[in-house]
Amino acid sequence: MSRRTSKSQAQFDRGCKVLVGGVNSPVRAYLAVGGTPPVIARAKGATITDVDDNTYIDYVCSYGPAILGHAPDAVVTAINKAARRGTSYGAPTSGETQLAEAIAAAIGGIEKVRFVNSGTEAAMTAVRLARAATGRDKIVKCVGCYHGHTDALLVSAGSGAATLGTPSSPGVPAGATADTLIVPYNDIEAMRALLTERSDEIAAVLVEPVAANMGVVPPAEGYLSKLRKLCDAAGALLVFDEVITGFRLAYGGAQAVYDVRADLTILGKIIGGGLPIGAVGGPAELMDHLSPAGPVYQAGTLSGNPVATAAGLATLQALREDGFYDTLHERSAELESGLLRAATAAGLGDRVCINRAGSMMSCFLTPEPVTDYSRAAAANKEAYGAWFHMMLSGGVYLAPSGMEAMFVSAAHTAQDIAQTVSAAESAFEAAANLM
Ligand SMILES: *Cc1c(COP(=O)(O)O)cnc(C)c1O
Repeated sequence: MSRRTSKSQAQFDRGCKVLVGGVNSPVRAYLAVGGTPPVIARAKGATITDVDDNTYIDYVCSYGPAILGHAPDAVVTAINKAARRGTSYGAPTSGETQLAEAIAAAIGGIEKVRFVNSGTEAAMTAVRLARAATGRDKIVKCVGCYHGHTDALLVSAGSGAATLGTPSSPGVPAGATADTLIVPYNDIEAMRALLTERSDEIAAVLVEPVAANMGVVPPAEGYLSKLRKLCDAAGALLVFDEVITGFRLAYGGAQAVYDVRADLTILGKIIGGGLPIGAVGGPAELMDHLSPAGPVYQAGTLSGNPVATAAGLATLQALREDGFYDTLHERSAELESGLLRAATAAGLGDRVCINRAGSMMSCFLTPEPVTDYSRAAAANKEAYGAWFHMMLSGGVYLAPSGMEAMFVSAAHTAQDIAQTVSAAESAFEAAANLM
């Protein structure tokens, strides 16, 4: 496929004059892979089309929400109907109650929900709630796990050992992260040391049950259940950030798959059916610390937005269809084995690590198994850039960074997978030249 780029280039240049870096979220800017991002005109099913009319098979899926593919009829209809009834009232609605009921029915341990407008807000709220409920200030997060861009959680860089968090961004005062402790993901001994040593100080441990913001890194065998026990012993709350994994790994999220219950669950992405949303959920006695039932302040003009909750409800309904996740995971397994075949054909069989959890996966260009951030960061970035650009010219739209996940949706067909694998053959050859 010869890719036309002139309209995207012109639109992006125009955007750069009025939008910072031409984007509204940094990863979209292609800094990690070079070049100019296609400017998107529309998307339907498994494909996304840019303003030059190039159509790609999309594995970004809006960074996770589009589990049904783009613009599924049931969701579009629900959005239209809801919008005609008014797009925001600043008052209770039955739609938000129904979505909360569906979430509570899906995820064990959630009795009550507070809706917000993004995953970032949900994480921020969970931290405040955990601190108030425990009367403690310290929180623990894992290196390379992402919980949105709130100050206290914008800490990920580190030596790998448990240290006091240092901010990852200018503008975050040291004071804002002084109570954030970090440990490497999947390192249960580091977590044990920290939780034992400071057991009376720690309000909560936040973790992505399957890490997906350093590329996809599944938890080691028993990691999450050990974490549960350590938190119980320390009197700390275990907070699962299921913004990506919720309704993605299974209808009941990672908690159903790994059979570990979190005290608080952070949700976003899929539960809004492609519209902005976030949520915190947990047992009533914890959640009732939030205002107006309790003293912990939290609010939002557009929270529980009727259009977003309608889109979320329609999405969740589609996910409840018999065999939904089986089919999705079979398709994803086909993609995984196809990519491995293509890598092997290009002579990279022993220098690629494909991590997959259900319908999320990452292809790391590294000979080592990727189990944490430092291993993920050791993957060859230049080779990823070459791989990425060959995939793009082969009609496959991937995240412009090796530290992001690939998402398969229910709209991806066996033919889409085959076409992707065929593009991957030349892409791996291009990568091999740089490895
Ligand atoms: C995307 C994401 C967030 C942040 O959600 P936003 O809606 O982008 O604010 C938080 N946690 C995880 C695990 C995410 O993937």
